[in-house]
Amino acid sequence: MLQQTQVATALPYFRRFIERFPDVCSLARAPIADVMGAWAGLGYYARARNLHACARAVVERHGGRDMARYTQAIMDLGATVCTRMQPACSRCPVSASCRAQQTGRTAALPATRARRERPVRPSHVLIALAGQAVLLQRRKADGIWGGLMCLPEFRSKASLLRRARALGLDPVAGAPLAPRRHALTHLTLAIEPVVAAGPASRARDADPRRWVALDRIDQAALPAPHRVLLREVRRLLCA
Ligand code: SF4
Repeated sequence: MLQQTQVATALPYFRRFIERFPDVCSLARAPIADVMGAWAGLGYYARARNLHACARAVVERHGGRDMARYTQAIMDLGATVCTRMQPACSRCPVSASCRAQQTGRTAALPATRARRERPVRPSHVLIALAGQAVLLQRRKADGIWGGLMCLPEFRSKASLLRRARALGLDPVAGAPLAPRRHALTHLTLAIEPVVAAGPASRARDADPRRWVALDRIDQAALPAPHRVLLREVRRLLCA
């Protein structure tokens, strides 16, 4: 959790995560949607997917034995012997099996990654309101925010408006939700929100889409920028 995330931000997530998945076996047993739900809001969702896949692999191969000791040993090694700037190879207990040592690259690894400009991808986001309910859909497991509940996203405003009309909703002119940018590891999303609204009778469930009451969005496994958008909508409706 602490990769690219501050301790203060990660702590409440860590506590909840550990309570829900106290050991590698419970994590491995859990459906990926539950793991993504517990991670929702932390960003960098590949970490949660990889952690879950890793737990499953460990349980499959080793029945989950000694995972905690192994993890602790790796962390201790990184903190005390194999430090980034000055690895103490001469007193390292794993030097015999270390590829960096064998290939004479202990000073060169880990390589510093060249900074790349992130490409910008348009993200037209539909906030479809039927009465006090908003339309969410679960993302496929792979790709950005895989497994999370999200606002429907479109590559063009025209296709977003087509979907809104198909749902029987009308775009709300002048809804003051500012466009915004959200940086991911490999690209930046240029988010353009559009609100479209209609009566509560427009809400009809269609898997994997789901209408969720606005006062229940805090319990939904949403990525942070979509959660922020929906909180803004809720505030506007209550004002
Ligand atoms: S031998 Fe390998 S693992 Fe050990 S300190 Fe050197 S680089 Fe790190």
